[in-house]
Amino acid sequence: MFKFNFKNPTKIIFGEGCIKDIAAEIDKDHRILITYGGGSIKSNGVLDQVKAALNGYTLFEFSGIEPNPSYETLMKAVELVRLEKIDYLLAVGGGSVIDGTKFIAAAVDFQGEPWDLLAKQAAVKSSLPFGTVLTLPATGSEMNSGAVVTRRSLQTKLPFSSPLLYPQFSVLDPTTTYSLPARQISNGVVDAFVHTVEQYLTYPVNAKVQDRFAEGLLLTLIEEGPVALQDPQNYDVRANIMWCATLALNGLIGAGVPQDWATHMIGHELTAIYGLDHAQTLAVVLPSVLTVKKEQKAAKLLQYAERVWGIVNGEDGQRIDQAIEKTRLFFERMQVKTRLSDYGIKDDSIDKVVAQLEQHSMVRLGEKKNITPAVSREILKLSL
Ligand code: NAP
Ligand code: FE
Repeated sequence: MFKFNFKNPTKIIFGEGCIKDIAAEIDKDHRILITYGGGSIKSNGVLDQVKAALNGYTLFEFSGIEPNPSYETLMKAVELVRLEKIDYLLAVGGGSVIDGTKFIAAAVDFQGEPWDLLAKQAAVKSSLPFGTVLTLPATGSEMNSGAVVTRRSLQTKLPFSSPLLYPQFSVLDPTTTYSLPARQISNGVVDAFVHTVEQYLTYPVNAKVQDRFAEGLLLTLIEEGPVALQDPQNYDVRANIMWCATLALNGLIGAGVPQDWATHMIGHELTAIYGLDHAQTLAVVLPSVLTVKKEQKAAKLLQYAERVWGIVNGEDGQRIDQAIEKTRLFFERMQVKTRLSDYGIKDDSIDKVVAQLEQHSMVRLGEKKNITPAVSREILKLSL
């Protein structure tokens, strides 16, 4: 196991009816900006619950944070925060709203052009405090310090992170997810699955606990994901998926182990250029990354085949191929398509995606930093 530091300061408040508890987490004298997306929290009653919980506070609202939040929109929120001297943010929504809120928190006091936080990976020196009410289990953003922001005018989607960007608290009430459309349930399960895989299917470092945590998350997502689609109001199923998604990317399973992330980085370019949902890009790219890198990943792929999919018979190569195929079929079973052609994307896309990867310095990806643009090209070809 590698050396590691692990600290996660986010308080999790989990369970039905917990939104009412947020007042205990925020001082009365704060001027709070509630940030949200296109309105799902209005129609499902979550915004009303939040406002009722914060009765007596000075509240402002900023709506319209899009899926794959845009720099252009978020900078409008930054202006509002400065104008109204807002000093606390409360993100209510999915990963896009939470990521966008992290960007707002970091940008408000940033000296210079805040895009540098992404484009130049400029250090975050200060941040507004914020909490979250999660409504879409997927990204883990509710308990991590990373965010991904898109600059629409440049067709560029980039990640950034800082230890200053952990939420102070996150409320996880599984009943807030009952209103999710099937597509977003599916997306969330696939995203959490791929987060786990990116920190697990690399090479062995004898990290037995992290491996078994990861396998536990994968097995749970495989078991509960399809049930969530068939039985959308099942509390225990939603609760298990919600906690899986948080644990998949809160630093726990990634501590002391190699990490891949090539699927995410290639996927970001596909979203930036073609507008695919984040999870759709992952479902397309991951099987190809595993296939192209199956020799490098062989030991862990064999462990995955046996412990996650129960594949024990056959030659090593056959078991590995079966495990990769089972992964693809799981995404399809979750109703997420796994080929670029399923989304109308043709082979002329490969040059564009590879050019963007090069432009964004994504030229040595993967746990061994050997996914060069030429290898990314091979991965994309296999994804057609
Ligand atoms: P999302 O983009 O936040 O939301 C997708 C859609 O779901 C929105 O249209 C939203 O509608 C709707 N929605 C959310 N909660 C709902 C509910 N309870 N009921 C009905 N509709 C609801 O989806 P996401 O998958 O959570 O976030 C994706 C973003 O996170 C991407 O930009 C991705 O790159 C990023 N990401 C971040 C991390 C990280 O560690 N920070 C990791 C992976 C991915 P409204 O807008 O109307 O609310
Ligand atoms: Fe993700």
